[in-house]
Amino acid sequence: MKKILIGTIVGYVLYALVMAYYLWFGADTSLPADLVGTKADPRTFLSSKEMLLVEEYSKIRNMMYFLSLPFDWVLYFLLILLGGAQAIQAWSEKVTRYSWLQGGIYVFWLTLFVTLASFPLSYIRFVLSKSYNITVQPFAGWMRDQLVGFWEGIFLMWLVVMVLYYLIRRFEKKWWVAAWALFIPFVFFLMYIQPVVIDPLYNDFTELQDKELEEKILGLAAESDIAADRVYEVNMSEKTNSINAYVTGVGGNSRIVLWDTLLTRLKEEEILFIMAHEMGHFVMNHVVVGISGYIVFSFFAFYLIHWCAARVISKWGEAIKITRLGQFSSLPLLLLLLSLVLFLASPITNAISRHQEHTADVYAIELTGDAAPAIGAFQEITRSSLSEVHPPALVKFLRYTHPPMVDRIAYLEKYLEEEE
Ligand SMILES: [Zn+2]
Repeated sequence: MKKILIGTIVGYVLYALVMAYYLWFGADTSLPADLVGTKADPRTFLSSKEMLLVEEYSKIRNMMYFLSLPFDWVLYFLLILLGGAQAIQAWSEKVTRYSWLQGGIYVFWLTLFVTLASFPLSYIRFVLSKSYNITVQPFAGWMRDQLVGFWEGIFLMWLVVMVLYYLIRRFEKKWWVAAWALFIPFVFFLMYIQPVVIDPLYNDFTELQDKELEEKILGLAAESDIAADRVYEVNMSEKTNSINAYVTGVGGNSRIVLWDTLLTRLKEEEILFIMAHEMGHFVMNHVVVGISGYIVFSFFAFYLIHWCAARVISKWGEAIKITRLGQFSSLPLLLLLLSLVLFLASPITNAISRHQEHTADVYAIELTGDAAPAIGAFQEITRSSLSEVHPPALVKFLRYTHPPMVDRIAYLEKYLEEEE
């Protein structure tokens, strides 16, 4: 056991060193030669101080990502091997004989352990983001969001665990099919309550104050056949300098939302381009397409998790004292497998998302009839979020749900040139 613990820690440190070498020395982040000096070249729109900040912050932020990536896997792995997963179960069984309460106790302690263990990394990320002026939220507010997230996580996981373990105990071999079938309405339920129940837990939503702008946005919405009669503004400027907007909703009740940071940072036609981009996502049903894709993917994911878990238990079950999947002590194993499956799928889901983002850009150009304001908007987004214009290949592959800004601006420039 001691050997495994030391081996895991040594492996983690070696991995961190390799990633640091890759980010600081190995990866090529220089701009392609034909883009140097164009509007996609950050040197043409960022000051040299901002350039340095972007470079420094991107490297640190990417490093933090690679440090956190296997962190949960290591935690679950050690929890299983060192007996923590089994100890929590034994304790919950001592406290109560009701299975639904045991599940709740298990989820509580597991979440508490994972949250506390990963708190230093989250806290460092918060402090870094604050020192580079991306986050402007005071510590107290950030901590409050962490606590809300903690309880929301426990509540949701408890719900899922109760259903899941009921199915596992009932249908030992086919539980994954049943779980998948129930997963579908659950996802739609979450999609429906997210904007109206969950999001307001974290932020204040009000009607857009600028009525003139609201009218113009609703004009674009009408052209896109989006049924909306108001635009919502989220008070985010007290938390962040980042920019965001979205259109959500099902059927007849759509909701157009923008962060107030958008209003102070961008000019009117730039704001309208961003909103047109978001409407593009909505009109082209990107959320529904994405969710349908996830439903198909999750069928195989559930099966894979079932297959791997059964293998692990039949091979090492005696040694790790998890002899049946129906015991709550198998939860860290299921979460570990889930996290691995999601990670393996992320390059594919990211690539699909990058493609959708590109088509939304094209939609926005057509709707607004102008590509020029988009360049200004993308340059300002780069500046306000200190985002990397041309990221290392591995980072793009694993993390980028949007095309890098260099690609987005270069496309717009090409579009404008062809138009002339
Ligand atoms: Zn988008």
